[in-house]
Amino acid sequence: MTNKIRVRIAPSPTGALHIGTARSALFNYLFAKKNKGVFVLRIEDTDLERSDLKWVQDIIEELKWLGIGWQEGPDIDGKYGPYKQSQRLDIYEKYIKKLLNEKKAYYCFCSEDELEAMRQEQMNRGAAPRYNGKCLSLSKEKIKNLLEKNSSSVIRFKIQNKKIKFTDLIRGEIEFDSSLIGDIVIAKDLNTPLYNFAVAVDDYEMEISHVIRGEDHISNTPKQILIQEALDFYQPIYAHLPLILAPDRTKLSKRHNVVSIKDYREQGYLPEAMINFMALLGWNPGTEKEMFTLSSLAKEFSLEKVQKPGAVFNIKKLDFINGFYIREKTIERLTELCLPYLILAKLIEEYSGGYKILETGEEILLVTLQKIIKAYQLRFKKLSEIAELTDFFFKEKLDYKKEILRWQEMGDKDIKDSLLASEKILSKINQSASEWNNKNLEEELINGAERFNIEKGYQENNRGFLLWPLRVALSGKQASASPFEIADILGKEKTLQRIKKALEIVS
Ligand code: GLU
Repeated sequence: MTNKIRVRIAPSPTGALHIGTARSALFNYLFAKKNKGVFVLRIEDTDLERSDLKWVQDIIEELKWLGIGWQEGPDIDGKYGPYKQSQRLDIYEKYIKKLLNEKKAYYCFCSEDELEAMRQEQMNRGAAPRYNGKCLSLSKEKIKNLLEKNSSSVIRFKIQNKKIKFTDLIRGEIEFDSSLIGDIVIAKDLNTPLYNFAVAVDDYEMEISHVIRGEDHISNTPKQILIQEALDFYQPIYAHLPLILAPDRTKLSKRHNVVSIKDYREQGYLPEAMINFMALLGWNPGTEKEMFTLSSLAKEFSLEKVQKPGAVFNIKKLDFINGFYIREKTIERLTELCLPYLILAKLIEEYSGGYKILETGEEILLVTLQKIIKAYQLRFKKLSEIAELTDFFFKEKLDYKKEILRWQEMGDKDIKDSLLASEKILSKINQSASEWNNKNLEEELINGAERFNIEKGYQENNRGFLLWPLRVALSGKQASASPFEIADILGKEKTLQRIKKALEIVS
């Protein structure tokens, strides 16, 4: 074994990259970075029925999107390749034969029914169900005979009864009593190895120094250790990461709406936010600091600061972190990221190098789109929200109920007076960049609000009497950006049209 740090993840391509696997990838990546080691991506596709090439693609794409890179893997050959288990069958075969020759493994011909009867009988006696070693005593001739007849069989590994101890870097000393395990199936045949066996062989062959993986694999570790011992392999160092728990502290699953990395990406979570959030799923810097980029994590991360108890998945925290990274973006970049969502919602479309509003066919300049996004930069938590928040900029007619124009105790007549007052103020402002801009509109409308309150005898500093009906008239929404920002973006003509429309709605 080299004394170089070599770590790996070994995802099975049976579905989209899950957040648990992505977190394992992140912790392995960080550990390798911190220790100038090598991070290997190995694809566990021995279960051919459940594996699919498209999921290998998904794993690669999503890890790259997160910014987690590897030095060896199915797409980057290295000296320990190939990196897909399905291409390593000759290696497994060699070791299965070795175990069979040394009588450390044996063929088992028991049928499902026999195994079930065995389990029932053991459970009736109150014993732990495990294989009773029936096929261990088959003679060489009998085995040969049965194999020639193509009788269905598997290959079992003889479990030595003993206490297995190992030191886990996160969980400390761990001890298992192997007599509870029973002889496990390590392969369906010489060319079809199963998980525990293939992993033990690959970790050895690839000179993996540390196995960092989810705690759900902890019960597999003693089996892998026994296989290593039987084959005279060295033992890697283990670190089992805490389970990711749902808010109700049960094991996180699809049922909790927790989805694949691809789904998070499509919902508009940023890779920086996913990285930051996943790092905190089990790792704790021991300070108040909560915001970490991938490169700062690579410096600060250590396995000693990984907690033992399960890490609770809190979507509100992810939203908070994502909002933070949305605010960190330049407006140009944020607009670029938001555009696909506006297109998907059929609000705008690309058109000869620019954009046009789908409903009206009008061209909309990139700077205008940037202003729209800027008005919302502080107000949204994930990119997919942008279409619903800003749709009114792209619509000809707004559809809203009269009631939402009302501020506090205003009557219909008061709303009308308010809209007329706004109309009067705005009509006097010139549609030129020096006058019709956010700052000037704000100043004029705030002064106007004060005058309006005095005129109507409203509480002096309650600006809602003027600004609320105006803002609703322009957006058609209960909540939106400020009326100044919206009016600035809409321009004078549309702004006045929308006020007229609102006046029709109240009367
Ligand atoms: N294929 C296993 C998984 O995706 C690998 C576990 C391991 O790291 O050994 O969970």
